[in-house]
Amino acid sequence: MTRPPFEPVSERDIRIVSAQLGRPARDVVGIPARCACGAPTVVATAPRLSDGTPFPTLYYLTHPVATAAMSFLEAAQVMVECTELLAADAEVRAAYERAHRDYLADRESIAVVPELVGISAGGMPTRVKCLHALAAHSLSAGPGANPIGDIALERSSWSPDVCQCPDYGVDVPDPADPADDDTGGRA
Ligand SMILES: [Zn+2]
Repeated sequence: MTRPPFEPVSERDIRIVSAQLGRPARDVVGIPARCACGAPTVVATAPRLSDGTPFPTLYYLTHPVATAAMSFLEAAQVMVECTELLAADAEVRAAYERAHRDYLADRESIAVVPELVGISAGGMPTRVKCLHALAAHSLSAGPGANPIGDIALERSSWSPDVCQCPDYGVDVPDPADPADDDTGGRA
């Protein structure tokens, strides 16, 4: 898990994210979270796309099994439960507000987009509108950073520790990467 500044993104990462999204990945600025196998789980996108569109969702969940697990939880009314928890628990409410501010700070460390001032993602700071966005924040910023994202991950049938990746169809050997060399890097 990483917050900005991000490491450079590889061509292979971009190919995997494009396969996960089913369209070419654009304006990628980092891979803040990865599967146990190394495949991207969360993609970080520029706060302003190259076509000029403001893009609030810095942390976007791309892993197909993770996104399916979040959709399942949304269908199972977990957002309703989390909304009730926010209403009932002042500590969770304060932590969620902190998550909102941290999210904005991370995004603004990359670029400040006037249209997005005060707008984070997933319904923060007072609503629960998208578990995908909140789980993506938790996966990127780590446990404790987003209380609702943490709940979503706890309830999820998907875990970042167990690879359930499909074949993304991107594994052409890369001669620059010893891990792709069948000598195991000894050559
Ligand atoms: Zn994987």
